[in-house]
Amino acid sequence: MSNVPSLEQLHAIGARQQPTYDDPAALAAAVERLRTLPPLVFAGECDELKEKIAAASRGEAFILQGGDCAETFADATADNTRNKLRVLLQMAVVLTYAASVPVVKIGRLAGQYAKPRSSDTETRDGVTLPAYRGDAVNGYDFTPESRIPDPQRLLEVYHHSASTLNLVRAFTTGGYADLRQVHAWNSEFVRNSPAGARYEAMAGEIERALTFMQAIGADPDEFHRVDFYSSHEALIMEYEHAMTRIDSRTESPYNVSGHFVWIGERTRNLDGAHVEYFRSIRNPIGCKLGPSATADDALALAARLNPENEPGRLTFITRFGADKVRDGLPGLVEKVTAEGVDVAWICDPMHGNTFSASTGYKTRRFEDVLDEVRGFFEVHRGLGTVPGGILVENTGDDVTEVIGGGEELDEHGLAHRYESVVDPRLNRVQSLEMAFQVAEFLSAR
Ligand code: PEP
Ligand code: MN
Repeated sequence: MSNVPSLEQLHAIGARQQPTYDDPAALAAAVERLRTLPPLVFAGECDELKEKIAAASRGEAFILQGGDCAETFADATADNTRNKLRVLLQMAVVLTYAASVPVVKIGRLAGQYAKPRSSDTETRDGVTLPAYRGDAVNGYDFTPESRIPDPQRLLEVYHHSASTLNLVRAFTTGGYADLRQVHAWNSEFVRNSPAGARYEAMAGEIERALTFMQAIGADPDEFHRVDFYSSHEALIMEYEHAMTRIDSRTESPYNVSGHFVWIGERTRNLDGAHVEYFRSIRNPIGCKLGPSATADDALALAARLNPENEPGRLTFITRFGADKVRDGLPGLVEKVTAEGVDVAWICDPMHGNTFSASTGYKTRRFEDVLDEVRGFFEVHRGLGTVPGGILVENTGDDVTEVIGGGEELDEHGLAHRYESVVDPRLNRVQSLEMAFQVAEFLSAR
């Protein structure tokens, strides 16, 4: 395929965080099958998103990217998808209304099934097994059989992504995302929390504004549908490569398994297969930058990933941790900006703020998450650069995975409803609280 390295070439370069499959024939068969399956997204949609990200990088829009750390096949249900979409729509409407800025909505969904891990193995009670690498690779159950990487799962990723995206498209264009539903998105449970009550009041104002607009005869399409995009970490070479197609209109390669794909913190090495693969596709792409990234690393990544300095093509997703963002981020932003490199900056306030609670659960403090976002805005405001968006791990359900927030969930409360298979997510109320806070940071910009 023009300009896209072959799978063999990518493996020869060396790809980190890949499963070790023990049946090469089964793997090859799965890849061949994937190559014949229809695209999940269109190149034209990816280009449209690229333009919106470019607008966000100029401060004319704000990116809200959110969803699960790791989707699972079992949870790819209609209720789950609706709940996730609903909380993102609520957050987006808060940001749009309270900060008067268009929000670019990107779900971490319909493809977010593969996870990089810090360790290849996991040990429980003296038993060591391969680590869980996401449903794309192996099973979460702690048994030898379940942890064996199974290439058939790559086909399951495709089919679950297709059904999730189909539902998302139906919801976002078929009436559910109609702005007149603002009240309906708020459920009983959320309404009783302070953030829910605040939302309810805002929804009332929006409804009055809509009624007024309609009375004067204005009823634009935007009131009835929203643009919503899919995204995931493009990690497993076999899957991403098999889902790469040449767009007939532009004759350029696109990854057609999601609109926006990103390179994780553990696979952004300049000489690695992920960077090499991402260079070859035309989607808007992201690259995580953690505290170990230097300004020169960022410049080198930008030069390789976006040599033509195309606006909207490259987003740096910074994830320093609340305690490091104010010291670490300015150097990066300053140098990248001084070199005239065109990027959108997104804050991921989740991955630098994870720790183990005394009860053993992997968690985050809501205050830390919020403080990293605050630091991100301070840094950009200080430098006169643009805070382009946030990336959160959240869910539309009332889980208990992140401590703190208005409901003051503590370490002991985590056991109540901890469902994430990898990282802790903001629950519905925490997500809404976050949106109100971010709206304040944004309007003070
Ligand atoms: C993630 O976004 O789930 C993730 C693994 O992040 P990072 O690559 O920044 O650690
Ligand atoms: Mn995560």
